[in-house]
Amino acid sequence: DLGLQGARVLVTAGAAGIGRAIAEAFAEEGARVFTCDLDEAGLATLPAGIGRRRADVADRGAVAALFEAALAELGGLDVLVNNAGIAGPTGKLDEINPEDWDRCLEVCLTSQFNCARLAIPHLRKSANASIVNLSSAAGKHGFALRAPYAAAKWGVIGLTKSLAIELGDDGIRVNAILPGLVAGDRQRRVLEAKAQQKGISFAEMERLAFSFTSIKDYVTARQLADQILFLCSPRGRTISGQAISVDGDTRML
Ligand code: NAD
Repeated sequence: DLGLQGARVLVTAGAAGIGRAIAEAFAEEGARVFTCDLDEAGLATLPAGIGRRRADVADRGAVAALFEAALAELGGLDVLVNNAGIAGPTGKLDEINPEDWDRCLEVCLTSQFNCARLAIPHLRKSANASIVNLSSAAGKHGFALRAPYAAAKWGVIGLTKSLAIELGDDGIRVNAILPGLVAGDRQRRVLEAKAQQKGISFAEMERLAFSFTSIKDYVTARQLADQILFLCSPRGRTISGQAISVDGDTRML
């Protein structure tokens, strides 16, 4: 028992992937969970009991409406997980169109500001308050041909470390999680694109990617969720301001 029974949790982008695993894992621990996503059909397939609303985290009006709905249902907030993110455009920087740069930064980085600023007044009233921001191994190593994504994810770490110091007196802990190769569709698409660039098969690309990790495997969304639950639980109360890699020791993407 992680002591998360009754914890009030808001997870962004919970309809699929890592966000869904996080929302479900908190709910299984007896937490009360609310989530949002762009994908209404995906939201509809979440387990009963998880609160949900369509919202684009890059849209401040939609985020305000999301917080109103979530707070009305939860009655307060103990945990914010800023999970939403998109891969953004692929290509050399001079080929990237400015609108795609803006959208990537808005969804991956500015969304975390949009949500944190509304969460903080409520988190201040919690006895075990925590924010977890999803960054990426790209936020530590860089990512050739995906500079907007890497820049946004690097920014997430700066936001996390600054907020952790700023909110320490309020008893709010703030950490970033850096996934690397996560099993799933998104990773498959990234590796397929890399395999094509290199002119090798998908299986060869997968072996190559694993050779740059210590565990020689993917991390699953559920394994990431487990680390996030621990961080947000009372057992994680000594950990703040950290950028924690949960990536099997990935050295390059
Ligand atoms: P994903 O591509 O599977 O998408 C998850 C959900 O985000 C989808 O349901 C989508 O509809 C939703 N979404 C997209 N834009 C949104 C928006 N503007 N507002 C609300 N919802 C939106 O993503 P994932 O792979 O589960 O990644 C989750 C987080 O982890 C992201 O921040 C991502 O950058 C990060 N990450 C993922 C990996 C990986 O390999 N999967 C690796 C490193 C970091």
